Formats: sequence, structure tokens, C-alpha cells
Amino acid sequence: GTAVVVLPPADLNVVPDRAVDDIAAELELFDKALGWVREDMHELSAKLATQLRKEERALFDVYLMMLDDAALGNEVRKVIKTGQWAQGALRQVVLDHVQRFELMDDAYLRERASDVRDLGRRLLAYLQEERKSALVYPDNTILVSEELSPAMLGEVPEGKLAGLISVTGSGNSHVAIFARAMGIPTVMGVVDLPYSKIDGIKLIVDGYHGEVFTNPSELLSKQYAEVVEEERQLTEGLDALRALPCETLDGQRMPLWVNTGLLADVARAQQRGAEGVGLYRTEVPFMVNERFPSEKEQLATYREQLQAFHPLPVTMRTLDIGGDKALSYFPIKEENPFLGWRGIRVTLDHPEIFLVQTRAMLKASEGLNNLRILLPMISGTQELEEALHLIHRAWGEVRDEGTDVPLPPIGVMIEIPAAVYQTRELARQVDFLSVGSNDLTQYLLAVDRNNPRVADLYDFLHPAVLQALQKVIHDAHAEGKPVSICGEMAGDPAAAVLLLAMGFDSLSMNATNLPKVKWLLRQITLSKARELLGQVMTMDNPHLIYSTLHLALRNLGLGRVINPASNIQA
Ligand code: PEP
Ligand code: MG
Repeated sequence: GTAVVVLPPADLNVVPDRAVDDIAAELELFDKALGWVREDMHELSAKLATQLRKEERALFDVYLMMLDDAALGNEVRKVIKTGQWAQGALRQVVLDHVQRFELMDDAYLRERASDVRDLGRRLLAYLQEERKSALVYPDNTILVSEELSPAMLGEVPEGKLAGLISVTGSGNSHVAIFARAMGIPTVMGVVDLPYSKIDGIKLIVDGYHGEVFTNPSELLSKQYAEVVEEERQLTEGLDALRALPCETLDGQRMPLWVNTGLLADVARAQQRGAEGVGLYRTEVPFMVNERFPSEKEQLATYREQLQAFHPLPVTMRTLDIGGDKALSYFPIKEENPFLGWRGIRVTLDHPEIFLVQTRAMLKASEGLNNLRILLPMISGTQELEEALHLIHRAWGEVRDEGTDVPLPPIGVMIEIPAAVYQTRELARQVDFLSVGSNDLTQYLLAVDRNNPRVADLYDFLHPAVLQALQKVIHDAHAEGKPVSICGEMAGDPAAAVLLLAMGFDSLSMNATNLPKVKWLLRQITLSKARELLGQVMTMDNPHLIYSTLHLALRNLGLGRVINPASNIQA
């Protein structure tokens, strides 16, 4: 595909160079932005007239002077005339000035660096706003960004997106999970990519191996085109499985559920024959909004989801923000966000958010009764009890208001190591459990799921993770409660064989991988899966576990869904 570099809002440092033909249009755009910022400055100055002294307000005059034709404005114009787009010219000029101010001895003048930067940011914001609508997405767009966000994915017109590249983050980041759900090849954590220089060039994104090729040769392009075609045929072949049950050769059933969040997940899940929703990430509709959605708005969103799958069950997780999931209108700034204010911790501190959400869920389920509520990031019984108390309160309220709904099944996510050791105590108080292997892996191995530098250490086949999963199943079943798994591990076909053998009651995964998992589980016996599990549980090394598992499946003739594109030598 073709690289389209998208920028985070108004960050001067990451503006790429971009050559333009229509210099007059760029000049005009820049002049417009100058005019708007001038107006803003006059307005701000007038607004603050009663609060600031005259000398203090002089800052705005300084700003206005800097914008003058003789100063910044003219320098930027000069660079545009060399064929650089307005944003790139602005970056060059502003950063140049900032650097010069920062080097000055005089403290007052050094301070001016931040004024220039601020001014630059204001101009850039206007330039980007104008550009946003003008950004063209060619066919086979490969979106490249310093930090991909779900909103950026949403802006590409349907059918145009072929690949994603993010400089930050890792394969376990939330944006990668969305990409996987959409079936878009993605490479995360490409820390050394000179991304500001690749706009408009041809790229190959190999998500299987985490590789990006710039300006690929004809031969390589041809080889990858063949992989794409093979994938298409495989997917087409798997479509036939839609109506067939997920059942091993020796008759063991394994319900396959789906994870949802994006609107598109609903249609995809239905096409692929999911048997229920094991995880509806409610934070997604919150993330694409500009403010907290009201109870009424949430009710409508949830009702749509419940109705789409009815009578199949839909497991709605209460708001799980924090970590790498941010709401622009509810910023959380922390040194250590994954060990900080996340998930249930936020909503128990803000019961009003929790109550509005659970009330909306309950009301949405009226007459459908296929709702299940799931609580994220529970680390002990006290949090669970508080959350249960609030759910009961919400239930009482909606019934008082005339909504006739039964109390839905309530479950807890096991994704913090402490919860693994409290499985029995937690299970006693709820109806079901669901393992969040994404976070559980990160916390057991002390590997930030979002940090590309340690991404190699993040491994859900680590023996410690496998042992934790076995313990959870054992303890949950001892309390007579079913246990599912909804982390990305469940959608990895080879790992799913082990999860089947361990005794999970259902697997919940992205719709993209569901047919592959179903295909594989239908080709194997439970006894063979158990034999494999027995074998890997004696091993102490995750790499050995990985290769043993993959080799065994390949020897059974089942390699087709576990490692495509394996024969390309670039
Ligand atoms: C998990 O942690 O495994 C999980 C399913 O939740 P999320 O990825 O949304 O944190
Ligand atoms: Mg989680």
C-alpha cells in the first residue's frame, strides 16, 4: 500500500516534511491561519483585560508582533516558496527560533522559547484543522503514526485501509487489539522508523513477522501479493465453517465467543458464527466521544449491541479506562499508568459514572434479558463487594422507575495476579469468571504491554502464565463456576489448543481469528490436546513451548492457520 502519515493534534516536533506543487494554496492557507491566530490573540487579550495588569497583557502584543510579516510570518512564507507545505515550513522556522532562544544566557529571553512554541502550536492547530478534511486516503492506505489512536483508524473511509504502522506501542497495546479485530496487518513499536520522511511511498507491512519494507522490489511485492491471495482463499474456505459447531474430533464442544467494541465487530461476529459476546469493551464508545455519554446515549448504544446478538448472551464490561486507554475529556496523567488508576479503581472512586453505566445496561436489556456484566481489574474481594453493592443499587433504582429486568449474571475478570490467588473467594460471590490474559501476562511477567523495548519478553506461553491459568480453572470449577478467557491468547489458534485441554468453558476472541481457531479445534482430539498440554507443562522455557507446540501441530498437518508467510525470504 501507500503510506499516509497522520499526525497527533498540534505537535510541532512530529510534523513531517512534505513537498507540494501548489505553493500558492499553501501560502493562502498559512495566511488564513495567521489571521485566525491574530484574532484569537486580540480576543484573549480583551477577555483578560480585567484580570491582568497592562504590563502582563503586553505578552499578547509580543505575540502579535512575532506574527508580523517582518518576523515569523515572513520566514515561514519563504520556506513555503521553496516547495515545502505550510506545516513543514512552520515546524522548521519555529523549532529553529525555539532552539536559539533556549541557548540564550538571559533568563527572560530563554523564556521566550516557550512563547514561540506556543504560537507555533496555535498556528499548527489551524493548519491541521484545514488539512484534516483535505487528507486523501488512497486505495490500500497504510496509516503511519507516531502513536496510532482508535480515532485515527475511524477516519479512514471503509475499504481503503490496508495496513497500520505505529512508532510507539506493542502488539499487546489496545490499538493493536482493535487492528487485529479489524483484520488489518499491523506493525507496532517501529521505534527507528524515520516516519516523517515516508509519506506517500510504497510500503509492505508484514504483521506476522513484525516487518516493514519501504520501496519494496518487484519480486518482494509479488511474493507478498501471493500471501495476500492465499490468506483470502483461506478465509473464504473458512466461511463454510460458519454454521458448524466448534467440536473436537472426539466430540468435545468448545463455545467460541467474540470480543466487541467497534461497531463493525457486530457484523463480522455474525458472519463468523460467534456463539455470544464474551467481552464488549464499553470504553470504546466512550473513547470516540468528546464527553461522557449520557445515560440515554449509553442506553441506546448498549441496546443496539444486545439486540444485534439476541438471544445470544452479551457480556458487557464496565468502563475500563486508564493504562493506555485514555478519554480526551477525562485525562489521567501518571508516572506508571498500568499500575495506577485503572478500570474498577476509577469507577469505584466515581460511583456516579459506574451507576449511570450500569443503569443504562440494565435498562437496555429490558425484554431481551441477554445481558451479563463483567468487572475489570478486580484485585480482591473488597472491590468486588463495593461493585456488587453499586450494581444492586442501580438495579433497585431502575426497577423503582418501572423497568422490569432480572438481575443479570455478574462476573469478574481475572487479570491481576492477586485475583489468581483469590479465585475461590471471588468465584463464590459471582456467576462466572473471565481471564484477561493480556493484563495477566503483563502483570505476572512485569512487562509493560505497551513498551516496545520489552515486547520480546511479553509471552503468554510463559510457563508461569500457563500455571496461573490452570490454577484459575481448578479453583473456579471447585466453586462450581464457569470460566472463560477473553485475552488475545484465546484467539491464537495454537494457544487455543492448550486452553481447550486446560478445561476452559468458553473462549472469547476477535472475530478475525475465530474461524481459524474453530478450524483447528475441529481437526484435533481432546486427548491429543491434553497430551500436548502435558508435554509443554513440563517445560521451563517459553520459546521451547512455542516451538514444541507449533511443530506438533505442523506434524499433524495443521500448520496452515498458525504461520502464514513463513516461506518469504526478504
Ligand atoms: C485483558 O486484559 O486480557 C483483556 C481482555 O482486557 P483489555 O485487553 O481490554 O485490557
Ligand atoms: Mg485488561
